[in-house]
Amino acid sequence: MAKEKTQGITIGKKNFSEWYEQVILKCGLVDKRLEHSRGFYGYPPWGAKILGEIENLFEKELIDKNHLPIRTPTAIPITLLEKEKEHATGFAPEVFLITKGHGGKELDIPKVLRPTGEAAIYPYFSYWIQTYKDLPFKIFETRPSFRAERTNAIFPLLRTAEFYWIEAHTAQLTNEDADKQVKEDMSIFKRVVEEELAIPFMLFKRPEWDKFAGADYTCAYDSPLPDGKVSQIGTTHNLGMNFSKPFNVTYVDKENKKQFCYQTSFGMGVSKILGMIAAIHGDDFGLVLPPKVAPIQIIIVPIYYKDEDKEKVLKLAKKVKLKLKQFRIEIDSRDDYTPGWKFNEWEMKGVPFRFEIGPKDVEKNQVVLVRRIDRKKEFISIDELSSKLIEKKFEELTELMFERAKKGFKKSKAKNFEDILKKINAGVHLVEIPFCNSEKCVNKLKEQTIKVRGILLFANGENTVSECVKNSRKAAEGKKCAVCGKPAKEIVWVARQY
Ligand SMILES: [Zn+2]
Repeated sequence: MAKEKTQGITIGKKNFSEWYEQVILKCGLVDKRLEHSRGFYGYPPWGAKILGEIENLFEKELIDKNHLPIRTPTAIPITLLEKEKEHATGFAPEVFLITKGHGGKELDIPKVLRPTGEAAIYPYFSYWIQTYKDLPFKIFETRPSFRAERTNAIFPLLRTAEFYWIEAHTAQLTNEDADKQVKEDMSIFKRVVEEELAIPFMLFKRPEWDKFAGADYTCAYDSPLPDGKVSQIGTTHNLGMNFSKPFNVTYVDKENKKQFCYQTSFGMGVSKILGMIAAIHGDDFGLVLPPKVAPIQIIIVPIYYKDEDKEKVLKLAKKVKLKLKQFRIEIDSRDDYTPGWKFNEWEMKGVPFRFEIGPKDVEKNQVVLVRRIDRKKEFISIDELSSKLIEKKFEELTELMFERAKKGFKKSKAKNFEDILKKINAGVHLVEIPFCNSEKCVNKLKEQTIKVRGILLFANGENTVSECVKNSRKAAEGKKCAVCGKPAKEIVWVARQY
């Protein structure tokens, strides 16, 4: 056991950046120590397991909504990326290029490490989709992608050169179907991220100048960090026919005519979400994991100091484990560590529930349940202990985590530039302002590292994206831009971001 591991977390969460760096390393989420690898990380088992559980949650929802898994190449000829002009220009500064192959020979056509999947996946769409009967065509792919970030922008998990995500792509008959798909994507994101991972977000239609390169429109999910910034943890795009035309994604309709598909894509930033779990739920003692993704959901720590107690304590521990075998439950029966050391270790790693079982508990036929989030203690008799009871307690815990996280999500309004700065500098995550959409005002905000996040949308609301845009424009009538004082065109939200 490495010495530093026994020391626990030594920096308070108040110093967010230092705390975060320590938590992700000591709790085994990612390892960034490899030399000359800035932005590329290793994931130790604890982090890789959580990442896998996050992927499982999204994949289950996607499969429920009739998406099918596929795999496509990591490196694609640059000519593919260049097929859609806006897409190519937008991603050009962020692309890693492979120029040499076998024996150091220059490749005829360099390959790019895909920054996003459109150009890798849509050639296959053109092979796999034949007639209108194949539509809607809905797939997903779980994989890493690559973006050459500015070195000083890199921040572990939240902004990296290699990142893990799930991208879901669809081909649709009509533009209305594509709009509906975008709404379905939103409901999937809300279900997993809010309800299962207890991470709050706000959903925006990104401004024209900040939409996904090649999209008709982009909707994006912003979540709050403890230091007042936000992170974009997912996006969903209506791509119209912008990709189906250059990539020849077509179908034969009922009249036997060739038609172009409408398309959507949806990115779920799973490694970013792993970072958000640490950042939002963690505390001075380490991680606090939502039960749905904890690699160990319940840790049983047997407590005994005499050999005669050991046997009966372990016997009860095994009985409890068997009774709750549908959960990820383990017994920490290592003899070379004290119970107190084990408490600290599993608290640091964020295990949601700890069961303590000592000789007295054996006598009383009970376990002591201690919740990681607030160390609340509860005695539960073995007869009452059931999967249903624990399921209910996990649900209550997840709700409590979400309520806590929401309290830390700060929103406000501003009418002028000084007010925007004052609020953002005071740690408000998102500020609502009337805005003129001029480049000059966008740049004035940018000088203060503030970005326009866009028009507010609702993941579960009945309103369509276009209705939200209409409402925002109506609400801006008669108002003045908070940056320049000229007539406002829309009500938007602004923030600092990772
Ligand atoms: Zn303005």
